[in-house]
This record gives sequence, structure tokens and C-alpha cells, in this order.
Amino acid sequence: MNKAVFQQSNGMYAINIISACGVFTPEQFAGLGQAAVECGVFRLKLTTRQTVVAVLDADKVAGLEARLPGLNLRVSPYGSTVRAVKSCAGNSALCPRALGDALDLGIALQDQFLGREVHKDVKIAVAGCSRGCVDPLCADFGVIARGKDLFDIFLGGRGGTRKPLHGKLLAEKMAGAEVSKLLEYVLERYGALAQPKERLALTVARVGTAEFLPPGGLPAGGRESADSDFLNFLSGKEDV
Ligand code: SF4
Repeated sequence: MNKAVFQQSNGMYAINIISACGVFTPEQFAGLGQAAVECGVFRLKLTTRQTVVAVLDADKVAGLEARLPGLNLRVSPYGSTVRAVKSCAGNSALCPRALGDALDLGIALQDQFLGREVHKDVKIAVAGCSRGCVDPLCADFGVIARGKDLFDIFLGGRGGTRKPLHGKLLAEKMAGAEVSKLLEYVLERYGALAQPKERLALTVARVGTAEFLPPGGLPAGGRESADSDFLNFLSGKEDV
């Protein structure tokens, strides 16, 4: 698995560092700051994927990297892998609008799937309500809390391109524990259906969402949604 350590145009190197979906304990934050000072880091930059990029000289890269495991941090995987999960602040401590614990679910999905090799990078986003502060409709696998331990799943979104795509509603009202099982199945089907180097969003656009539903049906509580539900979601009329 490739690690996200890149030479910059000014000759310095950037290390992309992952925490638990952008959450740091005070000790981690202070420890990273201390390590950055001691390793001569030039700048630390928050990224759109809720990771931290540290920019430093080439001869200091190994030293900073060696400090990360002790802080329970790690270097991001790069290339055709499942990337860091973007999760909003949606839980009872961090956002009063959260309908379900999106942050805990995002961290669990990252722990389980981060770095898994796939045809092309897979982006996951988990939001605590339909305001969607982490753009779940622009993720390959987007999750939006609908209620306490109830999550809707959107498949095949793509952002950061001239041809963005919104994900399509794949399943509704799934328990958090079932979301990881559905993602496992989606990645398995992606492995079987994708053309070489094809993004999941393009595979979904080519073959449709039904190919990603388990043959035995969704777990109890989950169901495939009708298009009308998706349109209601977009127009803000969804029942939450
Ligand atoms: S998506 Fe909803 S729960 Fe998450 S941070 Fe935004 S407003 Fe809060």
C-alpha cells in the first residue's frame, strides 16, 4: 500500500496524517504539535478529507513518521485504496442537530476499511443529518443519519471533478451495524463489476444501483428506496 508522502514543488515533502475522522484528543493535538516543532515542520494544513498535512524537509520525514504511532495517528494510504472517512461532528457531544451518531459510525468504518485495495480510490462520507456538512451525496458511499441508529445509504457520488455526480439512494433506515456489512458487499461487487481503474461512481452509473444490493435482500429495517424518496430528500421534504 502506498503512503501519502509527496515531494512538493518547492522541494519540501508533505505527509498526510490521519486521525479518527478529524477528531484529536488534547494529548494527540499537543503531541503532534510537539513532534512538528522538533521535526522542523514548516506548516500544518487541514485538508478537505479531515486529515492534516505536515510540510517539512526530506531528511525530517522519517523522524516525524516514527512519532505518529505513539500518538495513535498514521500516514494516509494513497492510490487505489479506501481513503480516510469524512464524518461530520454529528454526535450528542459535538452537534445538536445530529439525528444519529454519525461520528462513531464514521470512525468504525474507517477502522474497518481504511487502506483496503480497490480498483480506484473509494471515498466515504458520513453525516448526522440531511444538512450533509461532509457532502455525503458527493461520496462513493455516502451515509446520512435518519434517526437514532437509522442511516440512509447513497451510492455512486463523486465530487472534485468537472463532472460531479450525486449518489443515488441505495437503502434506507439501516442500523449502524448493518451499514458496514452493506459496505463490505458493495466493495465486493465493485471488485467484480468494475472495469480496470474505474471509479465506483462510474461503475454505478454504468450498471445501476440494483447490482449492489445483496441477493438475499437488505437486513431487517433496511429497504431499497423508491426514486420518489430520493427526490423528496433533494427537495428537503424527507421525513426525519
Ligand atoms: S450534517 Fe447535521 S449533524 Fe452533521 S455537523 Fe452538519 S448539521 Fe451537524
